[in-house]
Amino acid sequence: MNRDEARPRASAKGRANKGPVQRLAVLGATGSIGTQTLEVVRLFPEKFKVVALAGNRNIELLHAQALEFSPACVAVGDDASAQALRRRLEGTGIAVLQGKSGLREAACWEGVDVIMAAIVGFAGLESVVAGIEAGCTIALANKETLVVAGERVNALLRAHGGRMVPVDSEHSAIFQCLVGEPAGAVESITLTASGGPFRTRPLETFDRITREEALRHPNWAMGSKITIDSATMMNKGLEVIEAHWLFHLPPERIDVLVHPQSIVHSLVNFADGSSKAQLGQPDMKVPIQYALSYPDRWPAPHPRIDWSAAGRLDFERPDRRKFPCLELAYEALRQGGAAPAVLNAANEAAVALFLKDRIRFVDIPRAIETAMAQFDGPAHPSLDDLVALDRAVRRRVEELYGAPAY
Ligand code: NAD
Ligand code: MG
Repeated sequence: MNRDEARPRASAKGRANKGPVQRLAVLGATGSIGTQTLEVVRLFPEKFKVVALAGNRNIELLHAQALEFSPACVAVGDDASAQALRRRLEGTGIAVLQGKSGLREAACWEGVDVIMAAIVGFAGLESVVAGIEAGCTIALANKETLVVAGERVNALLRAHGGRMVPVDSEHSAIFQCLVGEPAGAVESITLTASGGPFRTRPLETFDRITREEALRHPNWAMGSKITIDSATMMNKGLEVIEAHWLFHLPPERIDVLVHPQSIVHSLVNFADGSSKAQLGQPDMKVPIQYALSYPDRWPAPHPRIDWSAAGRLDFERPDRRKFPCLELAYEALRQGGAAPAVLNAANEAAVALFLKDRIRFVDIPRAIETAMAQFDGPAHPSLDDLVALDRAVRRRVEELYGAPAY
């Protein structure tokens, strides 16, 4: 592990921040991160030109976004959505692309400097890869990309001289704490977790958890998949793996603490005994904006903390019996190779089944554990290996639970 790399790169060759206007592709534009990204763009119209938008099937919203931001292209998930959107955008000159190839095309559309990678899940991987190959800077919200393909993605970033800036609030916090720090100064990092809606719920009642209860996150309003991941604490597990690839630290130097107030977004612990943290209201627009303004900070009206009324900041160890997904993620990271991709695919399939009321909350970690025992995959999987493995693991989880999830 190279400690030198555990800090922001000051002199990346990525295309961002070259001129006064950043040319943006917002992938996952209709989601929680995508819409908040466009809110940041609205705050700084002179700093951005939206060149490409991509979403899945929310044609209403994509249509409104296309009219507001006049991108060169909009990519949608399927043929029917593309036809519907094409009719609506007739005469505007905006190209409508579709499917996986359309998404890749949108990512590397002529002139894109920065990609906001905000598609959820494995579906976001290929567009990030296409963007890196085209020399774009990646603002990364789609943590699953690094979980599944961290080794490949880092190799591509090195090969293309690219830059990746984290959007995930914990990783943004660490990234911010590392600015200006010398190489080799980091002893460990501590990711904070809200603990989700079931932090204080007794373990004996976990088999009765409903979808509605799991979707009620105490501190953050997010897409449904990450909200369930927060309830199982798999989100923190995925973030441990994400942090490993972003900051080049081994699993034993990445710690997790539950911090119910979600004010301290994460900490870096340095070799001299000092720790630095980044704090703020739980509002994703701050890390989204930082990923786009880095290395600058732009004044903005995001909510402030009234420190005189902030009260207590609590920290506690996560309960690993209630949240076995966290340990499964550490285990996948220790195993390495394709294990994190198996973990991720099984989790995505199990969460989709849970959201359809086909399995119980407590079945999610069981499905993942079973998949991890049944699949191993190559030590250094190619992107094609990862696509095949992802498909096979999902199919297996769906077979095991007797009903197709998609
Ligand atoms: P979301 O469900 O609200 O939005 C997902 C977006 O991806 C939507 O625009 C959807 O149309 C698009 N999408 C999904 N599948 C697609 C496909 N096959 N092709 C094209 N587009 C597709 O999710 P979100 O909460 O915005 O999360 C997005 C990513 O950011 C996730 O990886 C999540 O882990 C990460 N993240 C989110 C938050 C948050 O606060 N929401 C915080 C940190 C990290
Ligand atoms: Mg996070």
